[in-house]
Amino acid sequence: MKSEYDLIVVGGGFTGLIAALAAAESNKKTLLITFGAGSLAVGGGIVDLLGAGENNRLILSPFEEIRELPENHPYSLLGLDKIRQALAFFERITREGGYPYVANGDKNTFMVTPIGKLKPTYMFYEGQRPDILKESRDIIILGVSGLKDFFPELLLNGLSRQPLFKGKRFKVITLPSPFRKDWDLSAFEISAFVTRDEGRDWFKRVFKDNIPKNAAVLSPPLLGIEPDGSLRRELKDSYGTAIIETATLPPSVLGIRLRKLLTDLLKAKGVAIIEAAKVTGNEVKNKICSALFTSDNKRLRRYEAKEFIIATGGFFGGGAVSLPGKAHEMIFNIDLDVPLFQEEWSKNKLLGVERHPFGSFGVKTDSDLRAIDNSGEIILENVRFAGRILSGYDFAAEKSGNGVALLTAYAAAKSLNNA
Ligand SMILES: Cc1cc2nc3c(=O)[nH]c(=O)nc-3n(C[C@H](O)[C@H](O)[C@H](O)COP(=O)(O)OP(=O)(O)OC[C@H]3O[C@@H](n4cnc5c(N)ncnc54)[C@H](O)[C@@H]3O)c2cc1C
Repeated sequence: MKSEYDLIVVGGGFTGLIAALAAAESNKKTLLITFGAGSLAVGGGIVDLLGAGENNRLILSPFEEIRELPENHPYSLLGLDKIRQALAFFERITREGGYPYVANGDKNTFMVTPIGKLKPTYMFYEGQRPDILKESRDIIILGVSGLKDFFPELLLNGLSRQPLFKGKRFKVITLPSPFRKDWDLSAFEISAFVTRDEGRDWFKRVFKDNIPKNAAVLSPPLLGIEPDGSLRRELKDSYGTAIIETATLPPSVLGIRLRKLLTDLLKAKGVAIIEAAKVTGNEVKNKICSALFTSDNKRLRRYEAKEFIIATGGFFGGGAVSLPGKAHEMIFNIDLDVPLFQEEWSKNKLLGVERHPFGSFGVKTDSDLRAIDNSGEIILENVRFAGRILSGYDFAAEKSGNGVALLTAYAAAKSLNNA
């Protein structure tokens, strides 16, 4: 089968979804090809911009610290104006999509994690906004009997040690399980149940019977997997109760909601999506890529486009692979810039404060996000790289994963011809 598109985006993680959306808004006829769902389904569904400096120092004002990053960091390569444009784009599309993401001015917000630690992030679903916790003296921690990925006592224990929560009165309330008593449940399973009418009625009933009016409630994400926030609003309107959702262990309800929102927006904009397909080959002549190939069930399919954005993730997403002494990107076989001796790829202590060099391995690009070689020469004129496949940043150490993904996806789409 032969297809002709303005743009093919490879990879359906956060980066690929945002790149395809931004391109579709510039009227590009876009095809998204992806093998899997990417790390959105396991991550927290929040947008960390820059949460930690050297030696794990927590960052409160990310924009001030971004100015100090090395010149090969994706934020430095693209600049503060582009970062603000990308954040404004994301704020707008999530608001228009009915599942708004918000930020706290230029400051990071400290989100409550399921173990009661505080994690700096920049943008988050408005239902995660922790402000109400500061204002309320009494906080209810909600659980459900049989929940295996959220333990209210663990959260309570962690929060009571935080200076920010000194003087608060916590109360754990465990709702009865909607399923058989001996079943282990995840927040995702309950959320999926609550998405159905029967589950929504169950939740409203047990909530009314167990939670006092006008309470501040800290809860795992149980309010459905649809990105619409309607149950949260209904409970607020009926009982004055403010529910703040925390992240859970994978699968991530908050990440799955965000993925659903972005996929729905892509479909509404007419972007073609091919799922469960792996790009395995390319057609390149004189530094111009004309087509990509997928192969499944030994059948080769060819997809033509004028331009390409590669958002295949790093080693984790399947976009790159490491071999003894070398590492390369998977679709065009581009070598990653890695130290010659493999013992220099990592530090001795796995969980020490020193950053591991392998954390920032990736494809090196120019400011248009086109891959360059060690002498700075562009390798492919019409192919851009975005997200975790890029070099120059360590998302885990810096807490910048979805921030870099958002910025580079947006910038790659906006640097296409006539975008
Ligand atoms: C456990 C975990 C928790 C995280 N938590 C957070 C957090 O709280 N906040 C935050 O900001 N960031 C977080 N991150 C980081 C963040 O999720 C990623 O850095 C960011 O979303 C980058 O996504 P990506 O789309 O570039 O890559 P990925 O999410 O890895 O997506 C790559 C996609 O490309 C597809 N693909 C790969 N090769 C091919 C191919 N050949 N053909 C077709 N498709 C292909 C993959 O199947 C996948 O869908 C977390 C990451 C992990 C792993």
